[in-house]
Amino acid sequence: WNKITLDNRSQDELHEMEKTFNEMIDYQKENYEMQEIFVSDASHELKTPISIIKSYAQLLERRGTENPSIVKESLDAINSEAERMQKLVEQMLALAKNKDVSNVENINITNLLEETIAIFKGAYGREINFYPASKGYEIQGNQDQLKQVFYILIDNALKYSDKNVDVTVEIKDDNLVIFVRDYGQGIPDEEKDRLFERFYRMDKARNRNTGGTGLGLAIAKTITTSHGGSLSVESVLGEGSTFIVALPLK
Ligand code: ADP
Repeated sequence: WNKITLDNRSQDELHEMEKTFNEMIDYQKENYEMQEIFVSDASHELKTPISIIKSYAQLLERRGTENPSIVKESLDAINSEAERMQKLVEQMLALAKNKDVSNVENINITNLLEETIAIFKGAYGREINFYPASKGYEIQGNQDQLKQVFYILIDNALKYSDKNVDVTVEIKDDNLVIFVRDYGQGIPDEEKDRLFERFYRMDKARNRNTGGTGLGLAIAKTITTSHGGSLSVESVLGEGSTFIVALPLK
């Protein structure tokens, strides 16, 4: 081999390339590891409903003919666990799908919030008070994805409190800021960041009854981030929580 001598500039370029290459490898590795964690968490979450369905099916097989109340109890449990699995799978797909924003259009945020709030009419027997900004502001984004963000936040606010919920829109600098405020149990400081992690639930045992998957806030965060915005929470224990969505104005 002919020995190649590199001048300083080429040496620098070579180092730069090496650095970029190493960064790419690190990024891929991190991505791969995150994917592995996701698959392992997801299988763990799916295992519980599957084993409940299996044990009720076995109970039905063994004792169903002799005891009609067992038939009812088992079928109810099988139905509700199957529903839970369905929700988990739907939300896992939503998490994967929402990393990008497609079909970007101009969105009137007042209309979008009114439509989202209307979905909850009568569902929980409580009021959602809406305080829009004085002027109708427009942002750019994907209607369905942004609706999903507010659906998740309002649904949580209703699920984790038993009082009315306030939705307020304000303009701050170049951002449209939407506050979803509840007057419920509140969130301890040490939990505030973890809530946005996939599958994280504050009180797994109690929250199982609310039918939660622990994916809602992770989906909402992915969508707001992919829209160039942010999602955060402020909360006082025993007084309530406010989830804050900031989206860049056009
Ligand atoms: P889940 O399907 O469990 O509701 P989320 O990702 O939407 O999943 O929320 C994660 C956890 O954050 C919930 O299980 C709950 O413990 C907590 N949480 C979410 N919203 C609120 C709220 N408004 N008030 C109190 N706790 C909340």
